[in-house]
Amino acid sequence: MAAEVLTREDSGVAVTVYERMPSAGRKFLMAGRGGLNLTHSEPMQVFMQRYGPGQTALAPIIASMPPDAVRAWCEGLGQETFIGTSGRVFPRAMKASPLLRAWLRRLDAQGVEIKVRHCWQGWDDEGCLKFSTPEGDRTAAADATIVALGGGSWSRLGSDGAFVEILRKAGVEVTPLRAANCGVLVDWSEHFKERFQGQPLKRIGLRLGEMRVFGEALVTKGGLEGGAVYALSAAVREALDSVGQARLLIDLRPDLEEEALGRQLGQPRDKKSFSTFLRKVARLSPAAIGLLNEAALSLPHRLGDLSAEQLTCLVKAVPVSVYATAPIERAISTAGGIVLDELGPDLMIRRLPGVFAAGEMLDWEAPTGGYLLQACFASGAVAARGALDWLKKNKQD
Ligand SMILES: Cc1cc2nc3c(=O)[nH]c(=O)nc-3n(C[C@H](O)[C@H](O)[C@H](O)COP(=O)(O)OP(=O)(O)OC[C@H]3O[C@@H](n4cnc5c(N)ncnc54)[C@H](O)[C@@H]3O)c2cc1C
Repeated sequence: MAAEVLTREDSGVAVTVYERMPSAGRKFLMAGRGGLNLTHSEPMQVFMQRYGPGQTALAPIIASMPPDAVRAWCEGLGQETFIGTSGRVFPRAMKASPLLRAWLRRLDAQGVEIKVRHCWQGWDDEGCLKFSTPEGDRTAAADATIVALGGGSWSRLGSDGAFVEILRKAGVEVTPLRAANCGVLVDWSEHFKERFQGQPLKRIGLRLGEMRVFGEALVTKGGLEGGAVYALSAAVREALDSVGQARLLIDLRPDLEEEALGRQLGQPRDKKSFSTFLRKVARLSPAAIGLLNEAALSLPHRLGDLSAEQLTCLVKAVPVSVYATAPIERAISTAGGIVLDELGPDLMIRRLPGVFAAGEMLDWEAPTGGYLLQACFASGAVAARGALDWLKKNKQD
């Protein structure tokens, strides 16, 4: 996005993008596997709250390229967009490849040169950019530089967080990268993980303290993944940091009030096995029943010996002890990065005149829902406008 804005309307600026991978936009393509949620259609005030503590710094950035502008940009590249039932915005094609192809064609037409297999290593003593390439080390002089090196998850797609050390050495404050929008780790019993890994828990409620979300989770060998879990993962991380533990409460029937569920569970079981009773009467899936049994392991009674009242309480709030968030490698995004106070409103790194930064490598985080790409696009555009102004000013000086 920065390269596009820099070369719009014959700006006269020559732009080279250096990419360490053999091709550009690999994480963008990966994001397309889930439909490429570009942004969200909710009211701006609600939208901005998704960025939590980062919202003040991000407000003017996103205001300069708001969700409607992202949609218009996507449509300008020939990819019609639509708003899903959840309010999320996607390209009609529900994938990234046609959009990326059109975007790269546009960049090419605007004269942007993309040099792949160039891994940025910092600056040399003369202030030139240093790269390692398969043909050996290279340097390049630049009048202005924009770094947009991503976060630290899915490193095989390119963004490996190596910038953290490079920028720290240059005196820039960078918060450690940590998994965001990630799964959680739970010490399941052998039986539970063997029997239920890979199975979904659909239409559940998840609670952590005051936070409550609804959606879906997937049981994995080591814990839980999925949209509802990702939405709580920042709060889980905070709880683990501050009190050393995080106890999730899973509501297996969020659609039913306790009273109504209690009436169902108070019905006679007749000759049905207990699992069949739970499946038929309370409409619980095998994985949900497995989760109840798992929770009952730490109770003094077997599940089948609980009263209807006790069972109702358990179905509405199955406790799950989380001992860690899933590793950064498989996270959707990362928290941490360049501390926002290190940047001017034009996204220039104050300590490094002429160097601007954008995207996930800045220290903000947001849940899934299109907020990640939205902030990346908008910050790329702001950094580019900042660099153009800076170049103009320095030419005059
Ligand atoms: C599975 C998955 C699904 C996702 N789905 C969505 C979604 O639907 N909606 C959404 O909003 N977000 C989604 N995201 C997140 C989103 O893709 C990222 O937040 C976004 O791509 C970050 O953009 P960026 O330009 O900051 O970094 P990146 O897209 O990571 O790009 C940074 C580029 O810099 C290159 N690079 C890194 N270091 C160097 C170096 N030293 N030298 C040269 N090049 C370097 C990398 O190779 C990479 O190509 C998803 C992420 C994942 C992993």
